[in-house]
Amino acid sequence: MSRQNSNLPSRSAGYDAIVMGAGHNGLTAAAYLARAGLKTLVLERREIVGGCAVTEEIAPSCRASTASYIASMLRPKVIRDLGLAEHGLRMVPCDPLLQVAFPDGRVVPWWASRDRMADELGRLSPADVEPFFGMDDDLKRLARYFQPFFLETPPALEARGVVGWIEALRAGRRFRGISGREIAELVSFISGSLADYLDRRFRCDRVKTLVLANSVYGAHSPPYQRGSLFGLLFHLLGGGEQDVQGFYGHVVGGMGAISEALAASARSFGAEIRTASPVASIRVKDGQATGVVLEDGSEIDARVILSNADPKRTFLGLVEASALPDEFRRAVSAIKMDGPCAKVNLVLSEEPRFRGTRADATPAERSFFTLIPSLEFAERSYHSARFGRIPDELWIDCVIASNVGSSLAPPRRHIMTCFVQYVPYHLFEGTWDEKRESLGDRVLATIAEYAPNVPGAIVARQVLTPLDLERTFGLTEGNIFHGDLSLDQLFFMRPVPGWAGYRTPVRGLYLCGAGAHPGGGVTGAPGHNAAHVVITDFKSRSV
Ligand SMILES: Cc1cc2nc3c(=O)[nH]c(=O)nc-3n(C[C@H](O)[C@H](O)[C@H](O)COP(=O)(O)OP(=O)(O)OC[C@H]3O[C@@H](n4cnc5c(N)ncnc54)[C@H](O)[C@@H]3O)c2cc1C
Repeated sequence: MSRQNSNLPSRSAGYDAIVMGAGHNGLTAAAYLARAGLKTLVLERREIVGGCAVTEEIAPSCRASTASYIASMLRPKVIRDLGLAEHGLRMVPCDPLLQVAFPDGRVVPWWASRDRMADELGRLSPADVEPFFGMDDDLKRLARYFQPFFLETPPALEARGVVGWIEALRAGRRFRGISGREIAELVSFISGSLADYLDRRFRCDRVKTLVLANSVYGAHSPPYQRGSLFGLLFHLLGGGEQDVQGFYGHVVGGMGAISEALAASARSFGAEIRTASPVASIRVKDGQATGVVLEDGSEIDARVILSNADPKRTFLGLVEASALPDEFRRAVSAIKMDGPCAKVNLVLSEEPRFRGTRADATPAERSFFTLIPSLEFAERSYHSARFGRIPDELWIDCVIASNVGSSLAPPRRHIMTCFVQYVPYHLFEGTWDEKRESLGDRVLATIAEYAPNVPGAIVARQVLTPLDLERTFGLTEGNIFHGDLSLDQLFFMRPVPGWAGYRTPVRGLYLCGAGAHPGGGVTGAPGHNAAHVVITDFKSRSV
């Protein structure tokens, strides 16, 4: 984990690299760059590091993961390479991995242990036991084909000649040994709808809903939409320090502990991190990025700039239009953002009591509940939001973080964070400043159907609408992934076709956040990959 003694050409004046944004991806990139010997500066607009992976005080002495709340996809390689455990990162695997609470008071868990899960399903729907494990095995097998792509630059499909062949071979080698049946499965995963897949496999609606709850949250992919099946593969990637497939983890100290560990790692390699330092623009001269201008007017030179901000904010807000091809700007403008989620963070005077929880349930079993009655409910909710309405039917993911560790709140205080979908950024009527509290009320009314003691136990509540997510975390239109995770915005099409390799039309300017491949979530992957492209460019002296 020592700073690698590279022969990278460095210059003394200014910085080799400025990373704009201290989200977890910016910090990951900075740590790798500094480890490679580059003089690296991170500039963050907020007072704290972490972007969407932060732990913040929401009431006196009460802290919550205000944005992201579960670590499922943080790449094990990043954890190991950057020594995050040595820098204080501790994750507690969720068991059950997740559980769905139904309105009639039944709670259905997805246990990590196969035997325990078989017993659970045997009681719920014996006919679905075998298909459930068949599905789990299939998903894990297919996810293994995709997993290596996470830490690689996507193939450059526009490459011609020998380079084009090399790129095609690079992608093809990942599918070496794939059978005809698996190809058919992959095609159906890429093109199919989650609902059709589940209807074909399972008899029991609750089992279908449980699988729905294990799909990607925050994307524009309601279960009956083609392409929605792909979201299931995301959560079956290996995760955690031990690289366990399908990992879900609570982070001790909240999600901010990931960012703190990354920041400590970056500093240990020599990176400098400045908070409260918003970048107003990226300077470009003769097609080459030369530095940044801060909002206070000061300028800092660097040989390369990595932007951790989303592609719209970066290219439409911080780079002068004349420095970019019109076609590129048009493609960036067309990236789909538009919400579709919100967050409500609560401090409670008593622990939520979800109906259907066993009296002897462990704290881990009382720490994670998804409130989603059915696939149809999710579909209706999405379509209300799609047309700018705040749905009556809300899909809510509740984490009682204080059950996992005592560092977030003093005795007799409990922290519950609630991720809410589907919620539009563009409202059909009114503004989010007018509707913020009514969204909060609606979320609480929904939770009360499952955990009736919650509304009477509120000590503090923080409602973050899509507009608040934009204002607070700098997410364009509140999109938590820096661009929807739909198939047409993934892989070699992320952020836009032709520019999936972290480089941009401006020489020396790179994208290192969730808007780049492989996308959003707390993975560290875009930061890792972008840093390696930059290091390659330094080695070849092309910057
Ligand atoms: C409410 C919510 C819930 C989520 N839940 C989960 C979850 O449970 N699990 C999961 O894996 N993922 C979750 N996500 C998604 C995940 O958190 C994000 O996709 C991921 O953290 C993005 O990381 P990033 O480093 O690429 O970007 P960000 O975290 O967005 O960081 C970008 C940074 O750049 C800074 N910045 C922007 N512009 C400038 C500027 N001009 N000057 C200086 N700095 C600038 C921002 O302030 C920010 O700190 C959630 C996100 C949200 C918002």
